Amino acid sequence: MVEEKGNITDLESKVVYADLCCYCGACGAFCREYITYEDEKPTTKEKCYEYHGACYDFCPRTFFAPFDVERAVFGEVRKDNVLGYYKEILTARAKDPEIQKRAQDGGVVTALLSYLLESGKIDAAAVAKTAESDAWKPEPFVATSKDDVLAAAGSKYTQCPVLLGVGDAILDGKKSLALVGLPCHVQAMRKIQLSESFDVGADKVTAVIGLFCMETFDMEALKQKLAEIDVKIEDVEKFNIKKGKFLITVKGEEKSIPIKDMKGAMRPACRVCYDFAAEFADVSVGSVGSELGWNTVIVRSERGAELVKEAVEKGYLETQPLSEEGINAVKTLATRKKKENMKNIEAQAGKLKLLNMLVEPELLSLLLLE
Ligand SMILES: Cc1cc2nc3c(=O)[nH]c(=O)nc-3n(C[C@H](O)[C@H](O)[C@H](O)COP(=O)(O)OP(=O)(O)OC[C@H]3O[C@@H](n4cnc5c(N)ncnc54)[C@H](O)[C@@H]3O)c2cc1C
Repeated sequence: MVEEKGNITDLESKVVYADLCCYCGACGAFCREYITYEDEKPTTKEKCYEYHGACYDFCPRTFFAPFDVERAVFGEVRKDNVLGYYKEILTARAKDPEIQKRAQDGGVVTALLSYLLESGKIDAAAVAKTAESDAWKPEPFVATSKDDVLAAAGSKYTQCPVLLGVGDAILDGKKSLALVGLPCHVQAMRKIQLSESFDVGADKVTAVIGLFCMETFDMEALKQKLAEIDVKIEDVEKFNIKKGKFLITVKGEEKSIPIKDMKGAMRPACRVCYDFAAEFADVSVGSVGSELGWNTVIVRSERGAELVKEAVEKGYLETQPLSEEGINAVKTLATRKKKENMKNIEAQAGKLKLLNMLVEPELLSLLLLE
Protein backbone atom coordinates (compact mmCIF):
# COMPACT_ATOMS: atom_id res chain seq x y z
CA MET A 1 0.00 0.00 0.00
CA VAL A 2 1.22 3.51 -0.82
CA GLU A 3 2.26 5.01 2.52
CA GLU A 4 2.47 8.52 3.92
CA LYS A 5 4.59 9.07 7.01
CA GLY A 6 3.32 10.80 10.11
CA ASN A 7 3.26 10.71 13.88
CA ILE A 8 0.75 11.31 16.65
CA THR A 9 0.94 15.11 16.17
CA ASP A 10 0.07 14.69 12.48
CA LEU A 11 -2.73 12.31 13.45
CA GLU A 12 -4.13 14.86 15.87
CA SER A 13 -3.98 17.76 13.42
CA LYS A 14 -5.17 15.91 10.32
CA VAL A 15 -7.70 13.55 11.84
CA VAL A 16 -8.67 14.18 15.45
CA TYR A 17 -9.00 17.99 15.43
CA ALA A 18 -10.52 17.84 11.92
CA ASP A 19 -13.40 15.74 13.33
CA LEU A 20 -12.47 12.82 11.10
CA CYS A 21 -11.66 10.33 13.87
CA CYS A 22 -14.00 7.34 13.62
CA TYR A 23 -12.90 5.94 17.03
CA CYS A 24 -12.02 2.56 15.57
CA GLY A 25 -9.19 1.92 18.05
CA ALA A 26 -6.53 1.22 15.41
CA CYS A 27 -4.15 3.97 16.56
CA GLY A 28 -3.95 2.69 20.14
CA ALA A 29 -4.39 -1.04 19.58
CA PHE A 30 -0.67 -1.76 19.52
CA CYS A 31 0.64 1.30 21.34
CA ARG A 32 -0.76 0.90 24.83
CA GLU A 33 2.09 2.73 26.57
CA TYR A 34 1.45 6.03 24.78
CA ILE A 35 -2.15 6.12 23.54
CA THR A 36 -5.38 6.03 25.48
CA TYR A 37 -8.88 7.32 24.72
CA GLU A 38 -10.91 10.13 26.25
CA ASP A 39 -14.31 11.27 24.96
CA GLU A 40 -14.00 8.76 22.12
CA LYS A 41 -10.76 10.35 20.89
CA PRO A 42 -7.15 9.18 21.13
CA THR A 43 -4.95 11.10 23.50
CA THR A 44 -1.34 10.58 24.56
CA LYS A 45 -0.25 9.54 28.04
CA GLU A 46 3.21 10.99 27.43
CA LYS A 47 5.02 12.75 24.60
CA CYS A 48 6.00 10.52 21.71
CA TYR A 49 8.98 11.51 19.52
CA GLU A 50 8.55 8.96 16.72
CA TYR A 51 8.86 10.42 13.23
CA HIS A 52 6.56 7.77 11.80
CA GLY A 53 4.16 6.08 14.17
CA ALA A 54 1.91 3.04 13.93
CA CYS A 55 -0.91 5.34 15.10
CA TYR A 56 -0.66 7.38 11.88
CA ASP A 57 0.09 4.36 9.72
CA PHE A 58 -2.91 2.31 10.88
CA CYS A 59 -5.55 5.08 10.97
CA PRO A 60 -8.13 4.60 8.20
CA ARG A 61 -8.46 8.37 7.87
CA THR A 62 -4.81 9.39 7.33
CA PHE A 63 -4.40 7.76 3.92
CA PHE A 64 -6.15 4.86 2.28
CA ALA A 65 -5.44 3.31 -1.11
CA PRO A 66 -8.60 1.35 -2.01
CA PHE A 67 -7.25 -0.28 -5.15
CA ASP A 68 -4.01 -1.39 -3.50
CA VAL A 69 -6.13 -3.06 -0.82
CA GLU A 70 -8.35 -4.70 -3.43
CA ARG A 71 -5.36 -6.05 -5.36
CA ALA A 72 -3.85 -7.41 -2.13
CA VAL A 73 -7.04 -8.91 -0.69
CA PHE A 74 -9.05 -9.89 -3.77
CA GLY A 75 -6.34 -10.16 -6.44
CA GLU A 76 -8.02 -7.57 -8.68
CA VAL A 77 -9.92 -4.28 -8.51
CA ARG A 78 -13.64 -3.80 -8.49
CA LYS A 79 -15.89 -3.69 -11.51
CA ASP A 80 -18.84 -2.45 -9.46
CA ASN A 81 -18.23 1.08 -8.18
CA VAL A 82 -21.19 1.03 -5.78
CA LEU A 83 -20.74 -2.29 -3.95
CA GLY A 84 -17.01 -2.81 -4.48
CA TYR A 85 -15.36 -6.08 -5.45
CA TYR A 86 -17.45 -9.24 -4.93
CA LYS A 87 -17.91 -12.79 -6.08
CA GLU A 88 -21.58 -13.30 -5.25
CA ILE A 89 -24.47 -11.83 -3.28
CA LEU A 90 -26.71 -14.10 -1.23
CA THR A 91 -29.56 -13.98 1.22
CA ALA A 92 -28.86 -16.19 4.22
CA ARG A 93 -29.71 -17.01 7.81
CA ALA A 94 -28.39 -19.04 10.72
CA LYS A 95 -29.92 -22.50 11.09
CA ASP A 96 -29.62 -22.56 14.87
CA PRO A 97 -32.92 -21.26 16.40
CA GLU A 98 -31.02 -19.92 19.45
CA ILE A 99 -28.87 -17.74 17.18
CA GLN A 100 -31.93 -16.64 15.17
CA LYS A 101 -33.64 -15.58 18.41
CA ARG A 102 -30.75 -13.54 19.80
CA ALA A 103 -29.26 -12.05 16.63
CA GLN A 104 -30.01 -8.72 15.02
CA ASP A 105 -31.35 -10.08 11.71
CA GLY A 106 -30.69 -13.58 10.36
CA GLY A 107 -27.78 -14.30 12.68
CA VAL A 108 -25.29 -14.88 9.86
CA VAL A 109 -22.49 -13.08 11.69
CA THR A 110 -22.97 -15.08 14.90
CA ALA A 111 -23.33 -18.32 12.93
CA LEU A 112 -20.09 -17.70 10.99
CA LEU A 113 -18.22 -16.92 14.21
CA SER A 114 -19.69 -20.01 15.91
CA TYR A 115 -18.57 -22.17 12.99
CA LEU A 116 -15.05 -20.70 13.01
CA LEU A 117 -14.66 -21.15 16.79
CA GLU A 118 -16.25 -24.60 17.03
CA SER A 119 -14.23 -25.95 14.09
CA GLY A 120 -11.00 -24.63 15.64
CA LYS A 121 -10.29 -22.41 12.62
CA ILE A 122 -9.97 -19.44 14.97
CA ASP A 123 -9.35 -19.27 18.69
CA ALA A 124 -10.84 -15.79 19.20
CA ALA A 125 -13.09 -13.19 17.59
CA ALA A 126 -12.92 -9.43 18.16
CA VAL A 127 -16.51 -8.23 18.53
CA ALA A 128 -18.54 -5.41 20.15
CA LYS A 129 -20.41 -6.30 23.35
CA THR A 130 -22.67 -4.05 25.38
CA ALA A 131 -21.05 -2.86 28.60
CA GLU A 132 -22.56 -4.42 31.71
CA SER A 133 -22.60 -1.17 33.65
CA ASP A 134 -23.57 1.22 30.86
CA ALA A 135 -26.68 0.51 28.80
CA TRP A 136 -26.02 0.06 25.09
CA LYS A 137 -22.42 1.28 25.28
CA PRO A 138 -20.50 -1.10 23.03
CA GLU A 139 -17.10 -2.26 24.22
CA PRO A 140 -14.42 -4.27 22.44
CA PHE A 141 -14.63 -7.90 23.50
CA VAL A 142 -12.54 -10.95 22.68
CA ALA A 143 -14.95 -13.87 22.23
CA THR A 144 -13.59 -17.39 22.52
CA SER A 145 -16.76 -19.52 22.54
CA LYS A 146 -20.22 -19.72 21.01
CA ASP A 147 -21.69 -18.40 24.28
CA ASP A 148 -19.39 -15.40 24.01
CA VAL A 149 -20.44 -14.58 20.45
CA LEU A 150 -24.10 -15.02 21.39
CA ALA A 151 -23.59 -12.56 24.24
CA ALA A 152 -22.23 -10.00 21.76
CA ALA A 153 -24.99 -10.51 19.14
CA GLY A 154 -27.15 -7.57 18.09
CA SER A 155 -26.40 -4.14 16.62
CA LYS A 156 -25.29 -1.25 18.77
CA TYR A 157 -25.63 2.03 16.90
CA THR A 158 -22.85 3.94 18.64
CA GLN A 159 -19.15 3.58 17.89
CA CYS A 160 -16.94 0.89 19.39
CA PRO A 161 -13.11 0.79 19.15
CA VAL A 162 -13.20 -2.85 18.01
CA LEU A 163 -9.56 -2.77 16.87
CA LEU A 164 -8.55 -2.63 20.55
CA GLY A 165 -10.04 -6.13 20.81
CA VAL A 166 -7.84 -7.27 17.93
CA GLY A 167 -4.83 -5.80 19.76
CA ASP A 168 -5.87 -7.50 23.04
CA ALA A 169 -6.22 -10.89 21.32
CA ILE A 170 -2.88 -10.67 19.50
CA LEU A 171 -1.04 -9.36 22.58
CA ASP A 172 -2.64 -12.21 24.54
CA GLY A 173 -1.07 -14.74 22.16
CA LYS A 174 -4.18 -15.80 20.23
CA LYS A 175 -3.15 -17.63 17.08
CA SER A 176 -5.98 -17.11 14.64
CA LEU A 177 -8.69 -14.47 14.78
CA ALA A 178 -11.84 -13.11 13.21
CA LEU A 179 -12.85 -9.47 13.29
CA VAL A 180 -16.43 -8.20 13.05
CA GLY A 181 -16.58 -4.53 12.26
CA LEU A 182 -18.12 -1.59 10.48
CA PRO A 183 -16.58 -0.33 7.22
CA CYS A 184 -14.16 1.95 9.14
CA HIS A 185 -12.97 -0.98 11.29
CA VAL A 186 -12.47 -3.10 8.18
CA GLN A 187 -10.45 -0.37 6.46
CA ALA A 188 -8.28 -0.01 9.56
CA MET A 189 -7.78 -3.78 9.73
CA ARG A 190 -6.62 -3.89 6.11
CA LYS A 191 -4.20 -1.02 6.70
CA ILE A 192 -2.72 -2.84 9.70
CA GLN A 193 -2.42 -6.05 7.69
CA LEU A 194 -0.86 -4.36 4.67
CA SER A 195 1.42 -1.92 6.48
CA GLU A 196 4.96 -1.92 5.10
CA SER A 197 6.35 -0.21 8.19
CA PHE A 198 4.90 -2.11 11.17
CA ASP A 199 4.39 -5.84 11.63
CA VAL A 200 2.15 -6.44 14.65
CA GLY A 201 1.11 -9.97 13.73
CA ALA A 202 -2.07 -8.90 11.95
CA ASP A 203 -1.80 -11.83 9.52
CA LYS A 204 -3.36 -13.79 12.42
CA VAL A 205 -6.66 -12.12 11.52
CA THR A 206 -7.87 -14.69 9.01
CA ALA A 207 -11.53 -13.67 8.68
CA VAL A 208 -12.74 -10.08 8.36
CA ILE A 209 -16.54 -9.87 8.56
CA GLY A 210 -17.89 -6.42 7.70
CA LEU A 211 -21.29 -4.95 8.55
CA PHE A 212 -23.25 -2.64 6.25
CA CYS A 213 -23.40 0.83 7.78
CA MET A 214 -24.98 4.18 6.94
CA GLU A 215 -23.77 5.87 10.12
CA THR A 216 -23.22 5.57 13.85
CA PHE A 217 -24.67 7.94 16.43
CA ASP A 218 -23.07 9.97 19.15
CA MET A 219 -24.19 8.43 22.47
CA GLU A 220 -25.29 11.68 24.14
CA ALA A 221 -27.13 12.85 21.01
CA LEU A 222 -28.81 9.44 20.77
CA LYS A 223 -29.99 9.70 24.39
CA GLN A 224 -31.42 13.16 23.65
CA LYS A 225 -33.32 11.85 20.62
CA LEU A 226 -34.72 9.05 22.77
CA ALA A 227 -35.73 11.54 25.48
CA GLU A 228 -37.78 13.41 22.86
CA ILE A 229 -40.00 10.30 22.60
CA ASP A 230 -39.89 9.63 26.38
CA VAL A 231 -37.55 6.67 26.18
CA LYS A 232 -34.63 5.99 28.52
CA ILE A 233 -31.80 4.07 26.90
CA GLU A 234 -31.67 1.57 29.78
CA ASP A 235 -35.23 0.47 28.91
CA VAL A 236 -34.45 -0.26 25.25
CA GLU A 237 -34.52 -3.93 24.29
CA LYS A 238 -33.51 -3.57 20.64
CA PHE A 239 -32.54 -0.91 18.11
CA ASN A 240 -32.90 -1.43 14.38
CA ILE A 241 -32.99 0.55 11.15
CA LYS A 242 -35.56 -0.50 8.56
CA LYS A 243 -37.18 1.27 5.64
CA GLY A 244 -36.13 4.78 6.60
CA LYS A 245 -37.00 4.40 10.29
CA PHE A 246 -34.91 4.07 13.43
CA LEU A 247 -36.83 1.43 15.38
CA ILE A 248 -36.68 1.23 19.16
CA THR A 249 -38.20 -1.71 21.03
CA VAL A 250 -39.16 -0.86 24.61
CA LYS A 251 -40.97 -3.39 26.81
CA GLY A 252 -42.09 -5.32 23.74
CA GLU A 253 -43.50 -2.21 22.06
CA GLU A 254 -41.93 -0.77 18.91
CA LYS A 255 -41.42 3.00 18.67
CA SER A 256 -39.79 4.78 15.75
CA ILE A 257 -38.03 7.97 14.68
CA PRO A 258 -37.69 8.83 10.96
CA ILE A 259 -34.06 8.25 10.08
CA LYS A 260 -33.83 11.73 8.53
CA ASP A 261 -34.58 13.14 12.01
CA MET A 262 -31.61 11.19 13.40
CA LYS A 263 -29.07 12.90 11.10
CA GLY A 264 -28.24 15.47 13.78
CA ALA A 265 -27.17 12.65 16.10
CA MET A 266 -24.71 11.21 13.57
CA ARG A 267 -21.02 11.19 14.56
CA PRO A 268 -19.28 13.89 12.49
CA ALA A 269 -16.67 11.44 11.18
CA CYS A 270 -19.38 9.37 9.50
CA ARG A 271 -20.14 12.26 7.14
CA VAL A 272 -16.95 11.64 5.20
CA CYS A 273 -17.28 7.87 4.89
CA TYR A 274 -18.01 6.60 1.37
CA ASP A 275 -18.23 2.90 2.28
CA PHE A 276 -21.68 1.47 3.02
CA ALA A 277 -21.16 -2.21 2.27
CA ALA A 278 -17.84 -2.81 4.11
CA GLU A 279 -16.16 -3.02 0.74
CA PHE A 280 -12.84 -4.45 1.91
CA ALA A 281 -14.12 -7.31 4.09
CA ASP A 282 -13.90 -11.01 3.25
CA VAL A 283 -17.68 -11.21 3.72
CA SER A 284 -20.05 -8.26 4.23
CA VAL A 285 -23.37 -8.70 6.04
CA GLY A 286 -26.44 -6.49 6.36
CA SER A 287 -30.20 -6.69 6.25
CA VAL A 288 -31.33 -4.38 3.44
CA GLY A 289 -32.54 -6.34 0.42
CA SER A 290 -33.48 -9.49 2.36
CA GLU A 291 -36.70 -10.69 3.99
CA LEU A 292 -37.24 -10.10 7.70
CA GLY A 293 -35.13 -12.60 9.68
CA TRP A 294 -32.62 -13.01 6.85
CA ASN A 295 -29.33 -11.31 5.99
CA THR A 296 -27.89 -9.98 2.78
CA VAL A 297 -24.39 -11.43 2.38
CA ILE A 298 -21.77 -10.11 -0.03
CA VAL A 299 -19.07 -12.72 -0.56
CA ARG A 300 -15.91 -10.90 -1.60
CA SER A 301 -12.60 -12.74 -1.14
CA GLU A 302 -11.52 -16.33 -1.76
CA ARG A 303 -11.35 -16.75 2.04
CA GLY A 304 -14.85 -15.36 2.42
CA ALA A 305 -16.19 -17.73 -0.24
CA GLU A 306 -14.60 -20.73 1.51
CA LEU A 307 -15.97 -19.63 4.89
CA VAL A 308 -19.56 -19.31 3.65
CA LYS A 309 -19.34 -22.60 1.71
CA GLU A 310 -18.04 -24.51 4.74
CA ALA A 311 -20.60 -22.93 7.10
CA VAL A 312 -23.37 -24.11 4.74
CA GLU A 313 -21.88 -27.62 4.39
CA LYS A 314 -21.52 -27.98 8.18
CA GLY A 315 -25.14 -26.93 8.76
CA TYR A 316 -24.54 -23.50 10.31
CA LEU A 317 -26.10 -21.45 7.50
CA GLU A 318 -28.73 -21.69 4.81
CA THR A 319 -28.37 -19.52 1.73
CA GLN A 320 -30.17 -18.57 -1.48
CA PRO A 321 -29.18 -16.20 -4.26
CA LEU A 322 -30.41 -12.67 -3.53
CA SER A 323 -33.03 -11.39 -5.98
CA GLU A 324 -32.21 -8.58 -8.38
CA GLU A 325 -34.67 -6.42 -6.46
CA GLY A 326 -32.76 -7.18 -3.25
CA ILE A 327 -29.41 -6.31 -4.84
CA ASN A 328 -30.88 -3.05 -6.14
CA ALA A 329 -32.05 -2.16 -2.62
CA VAL A 330 -28.46 -2.53 -1.35
CA LYS A 331 -27.18 -0.48 -4.27
CA THR A 332 -29.69 2.28 -3.57
CA LEU A 333 -28.48 2.72 0.02
CA ALA A 334 -24.80 2.44 -0.94
CA THR A 335 -25.28 5.02 -3.70
CA ARG A 336 -27.07 7.39 -1.32
CA LYS A 337 -24.24 7.22 1.19
CA LYS A 338 -21.56 7.73 -1.45
CA LYS A 339 -23.32 10.64 -3.11
CA GLU A 340 -24.13 12.45 0.12
CA ASN A 341 -20.73 11.93 1.67
CA MET A 342 -18.64 12.54 -1.47
CA LYS A 343 -20.03 16.07 -1.39
CA ASN A 344 -18.78 16.43 2.19
CA ILE A 345 -15.41 14.92 1.30
CA GLU A 346 -14.95 17.21 -1.69
CA ALA A 347 -16.01 20.24 0.34
CA GLN A 348 -13.32 19.44 2.89
CA ALA A 349 -10.58 18.17 0.64
CA GLY A 350 -10.66 19.86 -2.77
CA LYS A 351 -10.88 17.96 -6.01
CA LEU A 352 -7.41 16.68 -6.78
CA LYS A 353 -6.62 14.88 -3.56
CA LEU A 354 -9.71 13.18 -2.23
CA LEU A 355 -9.04 13.54 1.48
CA ASN A 356 -7.38 10.32 2.65
CA MET A 357 -7.72 8.43 -0.61
CA LEU A 358 -4.66 7.95 -2.77
CA VAL A 359 -6.14 6.98 -6.09
CA GLU A 360 -4.48 6.58 -9.47
CA PRO A 361 -6.15 9.19 -11.72
CA GLU A 362 -7.10 6.60 -14.33
CA LEU A 363 -9.03 4.63 -11.69
CA LEU A 364 -10.76 7.62 -10.09
CA SER A 365 -13.94 7.11 -12.11
CA LEU A 366 -14.43 3.72 -10.41
CA LEU A 367 -15.09 5.54 -7.14
CA LEU A 368 -17.10 8.52 -8.29
CA LEU A 369 -20.73 8.42 -9.30
CA GLU A 370 -22.21 10.63 -12.00
C1 LIG B 1 -23.88 0.96 13.52
C2 LIG B 1 -24.52 -0.02 12.58
C3 LIG B 1 -25.20 0.46 11.45
C4 LIG B 1 -25.78 -0.44 10.54
N1 LIG B 1 -26.45 0.04 9.46
C5 LIG B 1 -27.03 -0.82 8.58
C6 LIG B 1 -27.77 -0.36 7.46
O1 LIG B 1 -27.92 0.86 7.26
N2 LIG B 1 -28.32 -1.26 6.61
C7 LIG B 1 -28.16 -2.63 6.81
O2 LIG B 1 -28.68 -3.41 6.02
N3 LIG B 1 -27.47 -3.09 7.86
C8 LIG B 1 -26.91 -2.25 8.74
N4 LIG B 1 -26.21 -2.72 9.82
C9 LIG B 1 -25.98 -4.17 9.95
C10 LIG B 1 -27.10 -4.88 10.68
O3 LIG B 1 -27.59 -4.09 11.75
C11 LIG B 1 -26.61 -6.22 11.25
O4 LIG B 1 -25.43 -6.02 12.01
C12 LIG B 1 -26.27 -7.21 10.14
O5 LIG B 1 -27.41 -7.39 9.34
C13 LIG B 1 -25.82 -8.55 10.72
O6 LIG B 1 -26.94 -9.18 11.29
P1 LIG B 1 -26.77 -10.54 12.08
O7 LIG B 1 -28.14 -11.00 12.49
O8 LIG B 1 -25.91 -11.46 11.31
O9 LIG B 1 -25.97 -10.00 13.36
P2 LIG B 1 -25.63 -10.73 14.71
O10 LIG B 1 -25.48 -12.21 14.49
O11 LIG B 1 -26.54 -10.25 15.77
O12 LIG B 1 -24.15 -10.16 15.00
C14 LIG B 1 -23.94 -8.78 15.10
C15 LIG B 1 -22.45 -8.55 15.24
O13 LIG B 1 -22.23 -7.15 15.07
C16 LIG B 1 -21.29 -6.72 16.03
N5 LIG B 1 -21.57 -5.32 16.33
C17 LIG B 1 -22.70 -4.82 16.87
N6 LIG B 1 -22.62 -3.49 17.00
C18 LIG B 1 -21.41 -3.14 16.54
C19 LIG B 1 -20.73 -1.89 16.44
N7 LIG B 1 -21.26 -0.73 16.83
N8 LIG B 1 -19.48 -1.90 15.92
C20 LIG B 1 -18.90 -3.05 15.53
N9 LIG B 1 -19.50 -4.26 15.60
C21 LIG B 1 -20.74 -4.30 16.10
C22 LIG B 1 -21.47 -7.62 17.23
O14 LIG B 1 -20.26 -7.76 17.90
C23 LIG B 1 -21.92 -8.94 16.59
O15 LIG B 1 -20.83 -9.81 16.41
C24 LIG B 1 -25.66 -1.85 10.76
C25 LIG B 1 -24.98 -2.31 11.91
C26 LIG B 1 -24.43 -1.42 12.81
C27 LIG B 1 -23.72 -1.94 14.04
